[in-house]
Amino acid sequence: MYGRIPRPSQRKAATLTHTDRPHTANVEIHKFGGTSVGDAARIRHAAELVARSPGRPVVVVSAVAGVTDRLERLPDLARQGETGAWREEVRKLAAFHRELLGGLLPADASGRPEARRVAGILSGIRDRLALLEEADEGSRSLAPDDDPAWVDQEIQAAGEDLSVILLAAALRAQGVPGRETDARTLIRTEARRGTAVPRDEETVRLVRDRLLPMLERGEVPVIQGFIGATQDGRTTTLGRGGSDFTAAIVGAALGAKEVTIWTDVAGIHSADPRVVPAARVLPELGFEEAVELAWFGARVIHPAAAKHAAAREVALRIRSSLDPEAEGTLIRSDRREGPAVAAVAHRAGVTLITVRSRPLFMAHGFLARVFHILARHAVPVDLVATSHTSTAFTLDRREELTAVREELEQFAEVTVRERLATVTVVGRGLLGRPGITGAIFRTLGDRPVNLISQASDVSLSFLVDEEGAAKVVEGVHRELIEGGGTE
Ligand code: ADP
Ligand code: ASP
Ligand code: MG
Repeated sequence: MYGRIPRPSQRKAATLTHTDRPHTANVEIHKFGGTSVGDAARIRHAAELVARSPGRPVVVVSAVAGVTDRLERLPDLARQGETGAWREEVRKLAAFHRELLGGLLPADASGRPEARRVAGILSGIRDRLALLEEADEGSRSLAPDDDPAWVDQEIQAAGEDLSVILLAAALRAQGVPGRETDARTLIRTEARRGTAVPRDEETVRLVRDRLLPMLERGEVPVIQGFIGATQDGRTTTLGRGGSDFTAAIVGAALGAKEVTIWTDVAGIHSADPRVVPAARVLPELGFEEAVELAWFGARVIHPAAAKHAAAREVALRIRSSLDPEAEGTLIRSDRREGPAVAAVAHRAGVTLITVRSRPLFMAHGFLARVFHILARHAVPVDLVATSHTSTAFTLDRREELTAVREELEQFAEVTVRERLATVTVVGRGLLGRPGITGAIFRTLGDRPVNLISQASDVSLSFLVDEEGAAKVVEGVHRELIEGGGTE
């Protein structure tokens, strides 16, 4: 079907300028998730998908599936003095990536620059871990630049540093001029660990300045997802699953026609297909719906990516690299057609805090005081419900819990319930639509609900015990989606 489309290297390079209106440059972003580059055959296949792209491709790639998890564990092993264990794991990671590269390059790849770079990244990790271990034992002090927390970031980022080498090599092996392009020179962020926030203006400028000339030369940039850097060059990461965010940022900066998120499922489904086997692919989804779904647990798209694309109206398409003929899900503007209830998601690991004001403080200003404390600790709140004397809200981060609790306890009684899950129904025109809450309560039976919250037309959430959440999702899917509940 794509046979007659010239490969990027053979295309005539049209002139691109900074003033190009969106879509005129025909830029297409292709983001490959970890499974889509899970082995040499898949990496080759990903490269083929890029080669067939009718537009001007820019590639964003995640670490190979499972690698970020493995890298994340290494610093703790070093801190615990588990020298044998971390050294063995680094050795395995080196062998694994060497083998992948060997499967992509012509015979005897060992002397090639790509192989040397893979080896260099792994030996960098080894050095850093050794340093971390010695520093922890007190036998060596770390230089300010080797702050252990930041060492963690650099080690995590190595997964993507390695996968760009692999995918760019696979592209070149197919005659496509893939060029590794360091995300640290494109995505400028604040110095915050774990969920660094990109600085929009600088990032847009850097992305355009670096990538437009490359595209003009007919090159295909291959960029690490998930990572960025501060002004002074410190590596940062955008949060787990953050490669989608990188793709949305680059797509918006370049005015891309479409950002394709290639993953291991054939689009956004009406529920996580691993939880609800009857879930179906949604051909279309509105931006707002996508943001709610992502935020409330549908891992298939990162919430920050959905938000970024929605705010800049960049169309996102979610497709399966294992089934590339399927159209997938198109996320754009706001849909007018299709079912009222589109999907149901859940997110575990949620904590419910209930704050009851003490009589002395019952006067106005109670809510303001509670939320001021949360804002000061930069704690995002998901769901809120209030009564005259209490307010209850959910958090999905535990880090700040103790500090927040102590402050609240100075003027209120605080109770904390953990191991809860939000279940969220997403759709359009949900406010006031008869039948939805009834159907939800029917599926819940005598299971307790801790909080129910609906602030918009596109989502309704409630809180149940973590262990029962998957069953509730299945039940809600059956009642409201399979049964066409509220059509
Ligand atoms: P990638 O590595 O490609 O970024 P992820 O694992 O982050 O992939 O996201 C894909 C996974 O998201 C799927 O395998 C699926 O289990 C999960 N998922 C959760 N909710 C949904 C949903 N509503 N539709 C599709 N997939 C979902
Ligand atoms: N490799 C990172 C992670 O596993 C980012 C991503 O895959 O999107 O979280
Ligand atoms: Mg993902």
